[in-house]
Amino acid sequence: MKKTIYKASNVNINKAVDILNESGVIAFPTETVYGLGGDASCESSIKKIYIIKNRPLHNPLIIHVASLEEAKMIGKLNNTAMKMAKAFWPGPLTLLVEKKRNNGITPAATSNLDSIAIRVPSNPIILKILNTFGKPIAAPSANLSGTVSATNASHVFDDFGDDIEMILDGDKCAHGIESTIVDVRSENIQILREGAITKDQIFKITKLQLDAYDGHKILSPGQLKKHYSPKARVRINVKRPNADEYFITFGEKNNNNHINTINLSSTGDMHKFAHRLYACLRDLDSMNIKKIAISPIPHQGIGRAINDRIKRASK
Ligand code: AMP
Ligand code: MG
Repeated sequence: MKKTIYKASNVNINKAVDILNESGVIAFPTETVYGLGGDASCESSIKKIYIIKNRPLHNPLIIHVASLEEAKMIGKLNNTAMKMAKAFWPGPLTLLVEKKRNNGITPAATSNLDSIAIRVPSNPIILKILNTFGKPIAAPSANLSGTVSATNASHVFDDFGDDIEMILDGDKCAHGIESTIVDVRSENIQILREGAITKDQIFKITKLQLDAYDGHKILSPGQLKKHYSPKARVRINVKRPNADEYFITFGEKNNNNHINTINLSSTGDMHKFAHRLYACLRDLDSMNIKKIAISPIPHQGIGRAINDRIKRASK
């Protein structure tokens, strides 16, 4: 076991909360990807997150809270927000709402914006941390800015080593892909980042029709062209990989007898594919693989989020 990785026992969760209370930064599992969290009310703790991640200051953080009630204390949840929150919280949905005045969140956490991105996660470890800490936690993904998110504790350690005092190990993340971010501030409800909850799921449960991000202005750095990138060069929509490429694919008949083929779901389950993708990209980087090709991903359901990430990975 590596030095800063700790089992997510009750004792260690309490230690993690002590670190938060002392303006420190910890890493923990969530149901999406691992998060790097600090006290959202404390400027120095937020500054540490930006420095450790090498994250641009204009890229605001998602604020994690334990309940809808706590969310209402920091953001203005209109009818749409309430409908979405009731349908999907706790879970992998982030709502972008108007910030409440004097909400106690340090402006550094939200890049001085009037908006705030809020999520109630469902993973029991982060929920326990939130409930014990009793205050909102600002937490971006636990990876160096611009790189592939971490879906297990040792991938967090690979990026940060001893820069983080404590990495709580809660095994793999259930979804393995980031939360869906939805801007619910106006009638024109927009998906800012495709993620673990699909547009179709949202429609099915809430009957709300969402617009895909129209690409005109960057509201969220998750929309930057290059992001989520491994060190290797990535080609997407590849049917026939070149001999020197590692080929990431799915389904039964999809491997073309290519020698270095990694099949992330032989049954073609795209949730499984999403779940395994980041770890696969990171593992290939650690093997010093230089060229990766990914087969075409059907652009529906979770496939939309996968396509979004691999497109940015390929830039
Ligand atoms: P990460 O924390 O790395 O998963 O990224 C979170 C995403 O949420 C980033 O792309 C942020 O820009 C976006 N986000 C967080 N807060 C806001 C906000 N107030 N306005 C727009 N986007 C936000
Ligand atoms: Mg991130």
